[in-house]
Amino acid sequence: MSSKLISRLAPTPSGNLHFGNAFNFLLTYLLVKFHDGILHLRIDDLDGPRVDPKSVEDIFIQLEWLGIEYHYGPSGPDELYSNYSQQLRKDRYFNAIEILKKSGNLFACECSRSKIRNSSTSKIYPGTCRNKNIKFLKDSQAWRVIVPENTFIYYNTFINNRKQIDLKTIVGDFVIRRRDGQPAYQIASLIDDIEMSINLIVRGNDLIPSTGAQIFLAEYLKDSVFSNAHFVHHKLIKNESGNKLSKSFRDHSLKLLRNKNSSPTIVYQQSAKILDLPFEEIQTLQDLIEAFRSEMNRRNLLMKFDYQI
Ligand SMILES: [Zn+2]
Repeated sequence: MSSKLISRLAPTPSGNLHFGNAFNFLLTYLLVKFHDGILHLRIDDLDGPRVDPKSVEDIFIQLEWLGIEYHYGPSGPDELYSNYSQQLRKDRYFNAIEILKKSGNLFACECSRSKIRNSSTSKIYPGTCRNKNIKFLKDSQAWRVIVPENTFIYYNTFINNRKQIDLKTIVGDFVIRRRDGQPAYQIASLIDDIEMSINLIVRGNDLIPSTGAQIFLAEYLKDSVFSNAHFVHHKLIKNESGNKLSKSFRDHSLKLLRNKNSSPTIVYQQSAKILDLPFEEIQTLQDLIEAFRSEMNRRNLLMKFDYQI
């Protein structure tokens, strides 16, 4: 990677964090640390009504317990609400939506959720309203982005391989302004990433479609940093790597783990296990950092970022 690596932790405060979140944070942190990069904490609290102050608090408590330090971002709930909240940044998201609308890339959609479910065997929107020229209104309709046939999006993996996403097939015309008039996740997350000059995104496999949708939007918005960012998509710990972790461990919230174990060693060890690091020797975060560094230097780990993690 030629320029300074810049990444972010982007939890959504809609419930207590669980081990899968911790693994994502630790992996992001380890990669940033290894490359002497910059780490932001960004709490994705756009979804106002669903944001629970207790979940916000939980994020700060668990990050502190894990010992994960970041360079930029709120140091606690008060600072989040007064300076960093996505609620304070909605104008930026709406501006971007307006740019896309003016350039003719959006259409208004009046379909209800059940109508979409019934008209399509997949979960993909079948394009019902795309050619209806429905007048844009501020509420009671969603605004969608037109994704033409044969839209193939390419992204960089961590080691600079290019991977392809068939956006029309796996995402389709996606929502950018929700029926309730709020900006959708795809645009809010992208605008924040662009403004923070994020060039490494570590996220679960379930967000591969979002990677495609966001790069597609970034190209429309003429941003090149995000489109050229590196992506590490890891397995969803909760569902897919069951044989490596006991079920009770996977389903535990970090809060519960913290109450049961005064030290986060178990979280470091389980994360190391997933990364195929020699986990028995790991006691502290520093041990985990060292184990990670040594595997990275031997390039054993590096190749896995493309396929196995
Ligand atoms: Zn529609």
